[in-house]
Amino acid sequence: MKGKLEPTERQKLIDEGKNLKEGLLSLEEDLLKLIDELQQEAQRIPNMTHPDVPIGGEDFSTIRKMVGSPREFSFPVKDHLQLGKELDLFDFDAASEVSGSKFYYLKNEAVLLEMALINWTLVEVMKRGFTPLTTPEIVRSSIVEKCGFQPRGANTQVYSIEDSDQCLIGTAEIPVGGIHMDSILAASLLPLKYVAVSHCFRTEAGAAGTASRGLYRVHQFSKLEMFILCRPEESDFYHEELIRIEEDLFSSLGLHYKTLDMASGDLGAPAYRKFDIEAWMPGLARYGEISSASNCTDYQSRRLGIRFRSTEPALTNPKKGKSNLAPPQFVHTLNATACAVPRMIVCILENNQQEDGSVIIPEPLRPFMGGLESIYPK
Ligand code: AMP
Repeated sequence: MKGKLEPTERQKLIDEGKNLKEGLLSLEEDLLKLIDELQQEAQRIPNMTHPDVPIGGEDFSTIRKMVGSPREFSFPVKDHLQLGKELDLFDFDAASEVSGSKFYYLKNEAVLLEMALINWTLVEVMKRGFTPLTTPEIVRSSIVEKCGFQPRGANTQVYSIEDSDQCLIGTAEIPVGGIHMDSILAASLLPLKYVAVSHCFRTEAGAAGTASRGLYRVHQFSKLEMFILCRPEESDFYHEELIRIEEDLFSSLGLHYKTLDMASGDLGAPAYRKFDIEAWMPGLARYGEISSASNCTDYQSRRLGIRFRSTEPALTNPKKGKSNLAPPQFVHTLNATACAVPRMIVCILENNQQEDGSVIIPEPLRPFMGGLESIYPK
């Protein structure tokens, strides 16, 4: 028959086909590995920086605002550890036996104080139009990476769960960022504003010393985190709104603080611009960071695949007939601390201590503590 091959010739071609197929499979495997490596490398590239960000290391951060002044004491000042001991508010020793160093039990009024801080902050932030959430506290490592954190490696701050692809969250920013991943949102839904309550878990690799003592730097803490998804042209505006909310909250609690425009070297990978607030902690005799508000622009949304589509037709319609809808665009994401509980407890105890050893509860929190006005030594 015309075109029929000799058996040997035929076998040769069959073998060649098999070899090509096997070669292709191995090349595809190599390609997947390379894509993975490329992806890993790409994830390490930080965001761009806002043109107004001060360039340099930590010391180049500038002060945007200063509220109040350090309280003057007419008696020797105690730190929160001493106060906690006299008021019977913490147990670090038992926690150290049960869990390890940098863990703690809160006791007595300190438990009420934590709950009051959470509930008061939640109500205040909800009043400003934010949707409340509690979140999963274990998430897939891929989501942690897409939010710009490194779940593995020498100095990671992330606790990974052995033999799984999951991690404990270091901040609610991660599970909230994941809510809308791989989706195209209607523009009319934006901005989406969330306030999430969660525990946060951090290895605090490399953090030691007296500057981090007591509740200042711990492995597990409660935090309320604000998170906004918005149109790109609006993210600077919402960044200002977030810092205003933080300042309102901390002023209502009577704190003395300064707001900083963080220098480029201190932004971390995802942030385009970051405003930190540092409050005065008299017992520690220094300012300590109590919150951080970051505009991450499209750094997280590109990795998480969160886009929006305007329902308006595109302005330049090339008369192609088919789709005159504007193409989907990546949203911008922003996150900001509304209340990181342990450092707020440090601030309240150290700033509101009295000569008789008692501590005055800030007025806004009292209705959330059964009307309690002061904590007295036991
Ligand atoms: P970050 O998500 O790292 O910007 O942290 C948000 C806020 O959480 C900080 O401003 C601190 O007030 C607080 N915080 C961060 N790490 C710790 C920790 N290890 N222990 C207690 N509070 C922390």
